[in-house]
Amino acid sequence: MIPKIGIDLGTANTTVYVAGKGIVLTEPTVVAVDELTNKILAVGKEAKDMIGKTPGDIKIYRPLREGVIADYKATLEILKYFLNKVKITRFFKPILVISVPAGITSTERKAVIDAAYEAGVREVYPIREPLLAALGADLPINSASGHLIVNIGGGTTEIAVISLGGIVRWESIRIAGDKFDESIKEYLRRKFNLAVGERTAELIKIQVGSAIPVKNNNNEHIMEVRGINILSGLPVNVKIHSNHIAEALQKDLREIIAGIKKVLANTPPELVADIMEKGIILSGGSALLRNLDALIYEHTGVPTYVADDPLYCVARGTGKIIEKLDIYRRIILSHK
Ligand code: ADP
Ligand code: MG
Repeated sequence: MIPKIGIDLGTANTTVYVAGKGIVLTEPTVVAVDELTNKILAVGKEAKDMIGKTPGDIKIYRPLREGVIADYKATLEILKYFLNKVKITRFFKPILVISVPAGITSTERKAVIDAAYEAGVREVYPIREPLLAALGADLPINSASGHLIVNIGGGTTEIAVISLGGIVRWESIRIAGDKFDESIKEYLRRKFNLAVGERTAELIKIQVGSAIPVKNNNNEHIMEVRGINILSGLPVNVKIHSNHIAEALQKDLREIIAGIKKVLANTPPELVADIMEKGIILSGGSALLRNLDALIYEHTGVPTYVADDPLYCVARGTGKIIEKLDIYRRIILSHK
């Protein structure tokens, strides 16, 4: 039997779906490169664990951070690594469905296809991320009804209206989880003279982050954070509240909302009517930010829901396609 695999090659995380098994693996989309020899030393979890611990000539980076495949060699190594990890050898060449950004250029698309063949796949089908996210969120994407999906990952937010299995309108913004972390860092520096690392900022966001100020003040909204006071240079502990994070993220979230409004404004009225009825669906890891659905509803007037297991929507979408290649033939062909 020919193995069939789906890969969500995200800016922050890569997730692999194997037909007949489901999601088998998820690891950071990170590579460690030896700058002296230009060799890739590690990929995935192992590379991420090296962050902050490497000598100067080893560089850890995220080749898809901007949502584009800018680095062919790194993409190739990532694909090889994940295929190898799920024990797909060149001997059993797999069929691969892989997520790509909605705004992918033909050059980038070709790079993904070339990298996939070089990594040893039999056939490769790059499918745009919003379609996969919508499929993975169980939206009936082939129906003649409009759906608005907002996939908020690490590097990018992709907003798309989908109808009849195709993307009708879309917008991609480079504001998502990474920018949130950056804004939290900046805010803490400004407000508390507190310097924290990227990973601490992310942890704060996940633990006490909120998109809107919270009303009651219990412990679940407070986190004690250790950092360096930038004036004294000494370590300090500061209590961070959910409402601080809501304030820190306000500007970024406004831009995401502006993107959603722009897409809505450009969508044919019949489809807007469908969306008003069915709501906006949020996917991607950053959809887990507390109260983001409420904030979007407040500013758009459209009911907003977070998909089940939003981190895995795109991977589940690739899975749906590879499990039923015949049913989704039209989508695959429309991506050729
Ligand atoms: P990508 O598809 O770009 O690889 P993901 O969909 O995997 O991104 O989402 C990764 C982002 O989700 C990261 O920025 C991470 O900090 C964020 N994230 C994960 N869990 C949460 C959470 N509980 N609250 C807020 N953000 C979260
Ligand atoms: Mg993603």
